[in-house]
Amino acid sequence: MSEITNIGVVGAGQMGAGIAHVAAVTGLSVLLADADLARAEKGKASIVKRLNRSVEKGRMTAEDAAAAAERIRPVADLDAFDEADLVVEAVSENEDLKNAIFTRLDGVCPAHTIFASNTSSIPITRMAAWTSRPERFIGMHFMNPVPVMKLVEIIRGLATDDATYAAVDALAGKMGKTTVLARDMPGFIVNRILMPMINEAVVALYEGIGSVEDIDVAMKLGTNQPMGPLTLADFIGLDTCLAIMEVLHAGTGDAKYRPCPLLRQYVEAGWLGRKSGRGFYDYAK
Ligand code: NAD
Repeated sequence: MSEITNIGVVGAGQMGAGIAHVAAVTGLSVLLADADLARAEKGKASIVKRLNRSVEKGRMTAEDAAAAAERIRPVADLDAFDEADLVVEAVSENEDLKNAIFTRLDGVCPAHTIFASNTSSIPITRMAAWTSRPERFIGMHFMNPVPVMKLVEIIRGLATDDATYAAVDALAGKMGKTTVLARDMPGFIVNRILMPMINEAVVALYEGIGSVEDIDVAMKLGTNQPMGPLTLADFIGLDTCLAIMEVLHAGTGDAKYRPCPLLRQYVEAGWLGRKSGRGFYDYAK
């Protein structure tokens, strides 16, 4: 497999824009698509804003920022992806939507194009089977915010071949990321370990073992974490935390992954964390 120089990113939201940003800074040509051209352009505008902030903070020259922005081309349609060496899919976490996107891409992209998904919870092996190229299908799980977070979890599906893994692993390294290899099992590595810890923090609150503040201070100072688990849950979004616990519970059938009833109740109340103004903490003030 020759080197990856052209990439397509589908989904110009939080993650897709972050992936396009880092790819462009790395020197790759990036096609950026969303549901329509206006949304793809909005994604690019958010990247340009971040690049300008990097210039203001002295982390990057104005020339480099302009050159990176120049390398990102928002497109109206996936038809433009026929020259991509790699497509990274980062559309909303909805299985039917991802299926439609990959089915479409499979018809548009040449045989050598690698398909990567940034999914947090859908099995890579299942997604790969939607296409005619399961050997060139892989999970590339970036962390949020992509320009800041160093890790990429790489997930091999059952059929992913060695050349695909090597090419994607090398590209992530070129993008300045450290990679880990995870088996295609529910939650991969990070969410398999992180989410039960967050869920257990909610259980501790539910059982009255400690207050919100005391649980966070205990874990912050007692285990040297940069933020407590309830603060982190509010940052991630309690609906996302619940959805991932549901995937772990359903995917393993193991009762130890049962979502805490209090977590479910917060989500039902619309207390989703920072994004809704209230979660375990109140952000209205
Ligand atoms: P987001 O809502 O910010 O972005 C999703 C984008 O998909 C939106 O811009 C939306 O317009 C677009 N989209 C919807 N329908 C589309 C279509 N038909 N064609 C093209 N684009 C379409 O969500 P996000 O947080 O960026 O998450 C994207 C993916 O990344 C999900 O699979 C999620 O599980 C995964 N992920 C998220 C995080 C996180 O912390 N947010 C971390 C790792 C992985």
